[in-house]
Amino acid sequence: MKRLFLCLLALGAGTSLFAQEESREADSLRHAFGRQQVRPSTGRHSQFADTLDTGNPGVKVVLYDNGTYRFVRDLDQVQKDSVFTEFWDTRAVNPYREKPDSLPDHFSLWIVDSLDAYVCPYITHPRSQFGYRRGRRHQGIDLPYPTGTPVAAAFDGKVRISSYVGGYGNLVVLRHANGLETFYAHLSKRNVEPGDWVNAGDIVGLGGSTGRSTGPHLHFETRYRGAAFDPSWLIDFETGTLRHRLLKIRSWYFNPNQRYVQDVDDEDEIFRTDEEERLAAEEQARKEAAARAAAEAAAQRYHTIRNGDTLSGIAKKYHTTVSRICQLNSGLTPSSTLRVGKRIRVR
Ligand SMILES: [Zn+2]
Repeated sequence: MKRLFLCLLALGAGTSLFAQEESREADSLRHAFGRQQVRPSTGRHSQFADTLDTGNPGVKVVLYDNGTYRFVRDLDQVQKDSVFTEFWDTRAVNPYREKPDSLPDHFSLWIVDSLDAYVCPYITHPRSQFGYRRGRRHQGIDLPYPTGTPVAAAFDGKVRISSYVGGYGNLVVLRHANGLETFYAHLSKRNVEPGDWVNAGDIVGLGGSTGRSTGPHLHFETRYRGAAFDPSWLIDFETGTLRHRLLKIRSWYFNPNQRYVQDVDDEDEIFRTDEEERLAAEEQARKEAAARAAAEAAAQRYHTIRNGDTLSGIAKKYHTTVSRICQLNSGLTPSSTLRVGKRIRVR
């Protein structure tokens, strides 16, 4: 989301050359004409009309000719981000060379946004929690289920590991664009290969009991820069709900014995987290409004009247209707005389 913010910041000024040209024209005519409303696409779009750069090379805005838009991810670009190139190792469980205590005292991670979704890997009553267990460190949470149960990717991301790894048995590790990694262990079957891109909800494998396991269960871990924290800070497995869109991570979460606690005793901390979340939501609304305005301006199209032009001919050329063109140009009616050289708005 932080990256999306940046891209939206840049969107107002960073539209394509072609769109800039159109925007300048739009600026000069803004007072004369009404603006076409641009709405988020619901998926039932008609014709593709244009693509806008956003400042973030991994994200584009696609405009459709019915006045809707959609954010789309350019996966080739996304995967060039340092999060997917640095400390990238398809064998080492922890490829980061730093110690957990080198992480800041607290920091926030955007977990889901307009492009990144969430699906609970498996909803059940956890059998074994994060923390020490019979003197042995347990870095994840155990979710019992029958062998062969499909295991869903929690978030969009790239497969870093898919192999048989000692006590983990068949292990899939996904790295997500925010730097978070999720681990899915003891699988009976792995469905993905390192380097694959998966979307939240894609089946990464089937549940099982491979490795050091006493019965079929999913061992699920959440790690940041190699350091594990209790996945329950993020997900309520009993209901399958995500606890936070913006997760505040405190350094003590990485303490191997620190389980999730429902009521963090430091109320100031809780308040600050909520406040941060509220400010971020406001900021997001502002940036989205700016993106809409830019998309709206860029979606406008003009036509300069030439000899022999008719409104119906122009309407046909721009895949619109005479009445729509008249709506967009005050004073223009289907019977108006078209003056050669005059510019009219067609979209
Ligand atoms: Zn486990």
